[in-house]
Amino acid sequence: MITKYLALPGPTEVNPEIMLEISKPIFNHRNVIFKDLLERVTEKTQKLLNTKNEVYFLTASGTGAMECAIVNTLSKNDKILALVNGSFGQRFADIAKQYGADVIEFHGEWGKGFELDKIKKIIDELGDNLKGITVVHCETSTGVLNDIEAISKLRCSDKTLLLVDGISSIGAVKVEVDKWNIDVILTGSQKVLALPPGLAIIAFSSKAIKAYEESDMPKYYWDIGKYRKFYVENRETPYTPAIPLFVGLLKQLEVLEEKGFDQEIKKHEKIANMVRYAIRAIGLELLNDDDIAANTVTPIKIPEGIDIEKLRKILLEKYSVDVAGGQGKLEGKIFRIGHLGNVEPLFIISILAALEMALKELGFEFEVGRGVKAAQEFWINNLK
Ligand SMILES: *Cc1c(COP(=O)(O)O)cnc(C)c1O
Repeated sequence: MITKYLALPGPTEVNPEIMLEISKPIFNHRNVIFKDLLERVTEKTQKLLNTKNEVYFLTASGTGAMECAIVNTLSKNDKILALVNGSFGQRFADIAKQYGADVIEFHGEWGKGFELDKIKKIIDELGDNLKGITVVHCETSTGVLNDIEAISKLRCSDKTLLLVDGISSIGAVKVEVDKWNIDVILTGSQKVLALPPGLAIIAFSSKAIKAYEESDMPKYYWDIGKYRKFYVENRETPYTPAIPLFVGLLKQLEVLEEKGFDQEIKKHEKIANMVRYAIRAIGLELLNDDDIAANTVTPIKIPEGIDIEKLRKILLEKYSVDVAGGQGKLEGKIFRIGHLGNVEPLFIISILAALEMALKELGFEFEVGRGVKAAQEFWINNLK
């Protein structure tokens, strides 16, 4: 069964034009075609990230890249500060713990931004003893966009690395890797880049590479030294790459670059605002305040008397719309509309139309059509 409308925070719909690229015949990843492809994809990814840092590609989902970030830069018993205000922040902390880092978890409220003054105090107290900070840029479980630039500036020691999960932000939100002094940042193919899952991207600063040279955490598949050696010497990856996804990624980056990476960010911003405006018009409540809301996913509180599993079932079975439920602490409290990648206004309007029909069927009281109308009006009023 094909789901027509993937309103999820990943995986996202793949453009047919990109799908055609991906379905081209396989070729040898040790020949000149791939070398050229890898070089071009690397350069374009650096542009996307606003960085001169080294960029590597892994055959993995995003979580693989999170693990890669940890094992390549840290050593056992290194003290790190894990900023947690949702389930992906927790995942980053858990990976570091699993490999033997000494993890201090700083918990922020789910659905809120971090209290930076409290974080600053911890960082100042630890000084040179703080080896790293892990943080998620867009915390997909809560739809909160954490302020990476501000967090980066809280560091008081040159020794402290900043490791950022940009899985659901890169491409849809401004990410200035060099200006913000991000040491490691990573993403996955199935989010904003709108490719099938299976390819992860990770970038290391020179400081992170230095840390790699001292790191004693166990690693084999994730050992970035091998990726580095193979790229520098041969423009290759050490192990078989996800060849079709590279072909798709090059095409996608070309399309985005031509439109302008900034244009894509603006599009996501406008779509996100349209969703928020329309959801409020239906009479539903958003989880987040506007000032911290991410451009890629919108969490909505489940209204009283509505069974979320029934709602999701109607959406999927009757309208072929897949929306996400809540995760962790927010399971059963929210549902989430993902709007990243190839999203367009009519896609959102379709989702809203289906949501309204499903809500009505379940007895939620409101005037059908208000959300769709609000979305249309929002779009018309923001045409520039
Ligand atoms: C989707 C997501 C992940 C997990 O990525 P996988 O590709 O499923 O491993 C991690 N962090 C964030 C912020 C995400 O949005």
